Amino acid sequence: MADLKASQNTSISQIKSVLDIMQRASDGYLYIFDLTDDVYLIPERLKERFAFDDVRIENCSKAIQKVIYPSDYKNLVEDIARCASGEQDIHDMEYRWVDRENRVIWISCRGTIVVDADGHRLLVGKISEIGKKAKADNVTGLRREVRFRLNAEEILRDRPESIRYCMRIGIDNFKEINEKDGTEAGDMVLFELSKCIMDTVPEEVDVYRLVADEFMIMDAFSETDVNPEVIYNIIKVKVEQKVKQKDYSRFYTISAGVLDKNFVGMKSEDIMMLSEFALNEAKRNGRNQMVTFNQDDYDIYLEHLNIRKELRMDISNNFRGFQIYYQPIVDAESFQIIGAEALLRWNSQKFGNISPVIMIPIMEESGLIIPVGRYVLWEAAKMCRKWRETVPNFHINVNLSYVQVHKSDLMSDVQQCMKEVGISPDSIVLELTESGCIETDNRTRELFKRLKENQVNLAIDDFGTGYSNMRYLKEIEAKTVKLDRSFVLQALNNEYDYKLICHLIDMIHCLGSTVCMEGIEYEHELEKMKKAGPDMIQGYLFGKPCPAEEFENTHLNRKALA
Ligand code: C2E
Ligand code: MG
Ligand code: MG
Repeated sequence: MADLKASQNTSISQIKSVLDIMQRASDGYLYIFDLTDDVYLIPERLKERFAFDDVRIENCSKAIQKVIYPSDYKNLVEDIARCASGEQDIHDMEYRWVDRENRVIWISCRGTIVVDADGHRLLVGKISEIGKKAKADNVTGLRREVRFRLNAEEILRDRPESIRYCMRIGIDNFKEINEKDGTEAGDMVLFELSKCIMDTVPEEVDVYRLVADEFMIMDAFSETDVNPEVIYNIIKVKVEQKVKQKDYSRFYTISAGVLDKNFVGMKSEDIMMLSEFALNEAKRNGRNQMVTFNQDDYDIYLEHLNIRKELRMDISNNFRGFQIYYQPIVDAESFQIIGAEALLRWNSQKFGNISPVIMIPIMEESGLIIPVGRYVLWEAAKMCRKWRETVPNFHINVNLSYVQVHKSDLMSDVQQCMKEVGISPDSIVLELTESGCIETDNRTRELFKRLKENQVNLAIDDFGTGYSNMRYLKEIEAKTVKLDRSFVLQALNNEYDYKLICHLIDMIHCLGSTVCMEGIEYEHELEKMKKAGPDMIQGYLFGKPCPAEEFENTHLNRKALA
């Protein structure tokens, strides 16, 4: 109250002149609201921005109604009434106004009651536009995600067609920088990148810092179309220069996901979601690049999510809809059956039969391949024990995913399976795909060594489709190498490839491994490829993959009769 008394010698015009001076240095709007006379004195800038007729507004309580967002009006009037009656001396509210373009603007309005020389209760204070005010992120000085959402929401509602593009930028190895050099170094990188972005985009274009290492550029101001790729490339070059300037002591690259059309009908949440998808695609494609959102890719992604959900449900429902098919593997000389490959099938209630080529990558991504891989191993081991009664050295090949190799305790799974089912380890051949397992680190090498020491046989699958065949051969020292069908097909149609396959088979033999040729479908193929000298053959000519019972009837019982 002491302050109020002290101001009682001050006139409204004196206060006004002080405010006019201060206004020049303020980013907000300074005002005086004479509650006694219901007169509102505002700066010129506020009049221009909102639908006021003058800088002096008589009958303010009524006049202000046209700039206040309707549902916020009642609360405001009540608060002002408490100030006018003397019940409170401070006004502090965040609420919405509507600007001359009919856009909703969040404002923060703060004021203090001053009683002037005439005994009028004056509310003196400042209005700030929350959306404009950089609620600064201390590291980059940019506005944060909440603000992005508010602003985007407003633009999407009022003028969605004016959005040229939204670009979400992420640092590819931010976690690594934080872990290796500390969070201070991480902050420096964020600051540096925010500067590169700000120096690239025009001043009116909004830039926000989202979570952790991600930024969002929203261009809703450019008059003409802008090519976001050009913007991205300029930022990228600037980042490269910065990294070079610091002698590569803090190396990082950036990826970006861009939305460049169809903003009509979107919500800010859609921009967040779809730009995140595009950015993740850029990272999945190898980082250090920009990806523009593509609806078809997104639909496939959503479908895969649905498939994953169904897979998860069926797996937890005791592997409902899963089945193992078996395809015969025959001796290349006698054509006698010596084994089978276990191939996974899934008949989903919702999606029907889904090819392993689609479902296996989905299960790998989600880790579901680990329980499913165990299921295949156990089922195959049980069948093998049974079928060995007919064919004593029968073996079953089981496909292994790199995820099982890297992320599960394969050795103990195999040991436990052999023990529980009661078969010897050499009944099972574990097939490793060449491309999936290519990262042979020390741990993996150790695992392969232990498997071999325990008499578990390894085969290299799909040989000829990958890009590092020879190295892989040397590292795994597999018992068997399976030549992929595409490789075999090339050899069937091209003499050079045929010779190559002949030499390759010789070489694999020299290394002490056997060769299984995959994908032989016809007699003439067999005739030609047999001369190349494989040890085993697998292909439709000798049988397509089929359920265990059919396999027994078609391949085993017939053999028993023979
Ligand atoms: P893969 O391990 O190379 O299996 C051989 C694939 O070639 C099988 O396809 C088989 O049906 C097919 N095939 C065999 N002979 C012929 C032929 O003469 N002509 C033609 N056109 N195709 C032939 P499938 O069953 O669709 O499996 C595809 C791939 O899915 C497998 O390739 C394997 O990489 C993966 N896969 C299947 N089951 C499992 C599993 O239990 N675990 C893991 N990790 N992967 C599996
Ligand atoms: Mg295989
Ligand atoms: Mg194969």
